[in-house]
Amino acid sequence: VHVALGRGAEFDAIRRLLARWGDSARGIGNDTSALDVPPGHRMVASTDTSVEGVDFRREWLTPSEIGYRATAAALSDLAAAAASPLGVLLAITVPTNWREALEGVADGAGQAARAAGATVLGGDLTAVTGPGMLALNVTVLGSVPHPITRTGARVGDHVYVTGVIGGPARALRAWLDGTDPQPADRARFARPAPRIREAQWLAERGARAAIDVSDGLVADVGHIAAASGVRIAIDLGLVPRVSGVTAIDAAQSGEEYELAVIAPGGIDVSDFAAAFGIPLTDIGHVTEPASTRAGAGVETYCDGKRVDPPGGYDHFSS
Ligand SMILES: [Mg+2]
Repeated sequence: VHVALGRGAEFDAIRRLLARWGDSARGIGNDTSALDVPPGHRMVASTDTSVEGVDFRREWLTPSEIGYRATAAALSDLAAAAASPLGVLLAITVPTNWREALEGVADGAGQAARAAGATVLGGDLTAVTGPGMLALNVTVLGSVPHPITRTGARVGDHVYVTGVIGGPARALRAWLDGTDPQPADRARFARPAPRIREAQWLAERGARAAIDVSDGLVADVGHIAAASGVRIAIDLGLVPRVSGVTAIDAAQSGEEYELAVIAPGGIDVSDFAAAFGIPLTDIGHVTEPASTRAGAGVETYCDGKRVDPPGGYDHFSS
């Protein structure tokens, strides 16, 4: 399934990774990787970078978890389009102090790809001499007849969110406070689950716009509002959250990789829960088109009273 590789330390490293990936990788060793898209589908592509010290710290996660998390986070963008994953390209920058951990990182990346039905199609290893930060860039390719975007929300549509949120933010807070997170919160941070099949189920039931929750639920629904040119109302009290987390903390918890989906009302949420073992919750609706009086955006309510929307995570805000 692979092209024979030449001699040298870099190719030895790649051979070790291929041995670990087994049939999770295919067609590696040429300059490019060719792939087929099913008839009637469009290809969708997305890329995501995880950098030590920015997206994670080495002492929080195992090398395998670092690879898994970076790859799952990238695959989550395919879920937002309701696409089927085809392949993953991994570019890893490896300083000397990470060389021993490279196989673990690759193991985790391969596991995340396999779990989503994707194949590792290629990548790039850059060895940096001396100590430094690990960086992983993960490019994902998928296909879907009609990709869901952020632009399709219409007045009267409902806002649904998958899963139960708040765990990753609480794990992060525990680490930053110097304590160990609860195991369930840690697992949600270390091994996020891209909602690939859930998105396809929702697309079949008329989902019109979607986003994966990476900056925080309210901030991400705000991206849909902006892209669709609408105003959206969310009841924070309805946001499904892990016990002990406030509605505000849940609404701004980032890196959840759950989906916020805009769809006509009436979706059978108990069917969804029975199919996937996680809840689907209706938390609000699209109220009106953006106007000069009220621009596109999100209004948040708690117990029927309007409250200030919680902020989200913005890489460039400071
Ligand atoms: Mg995204």
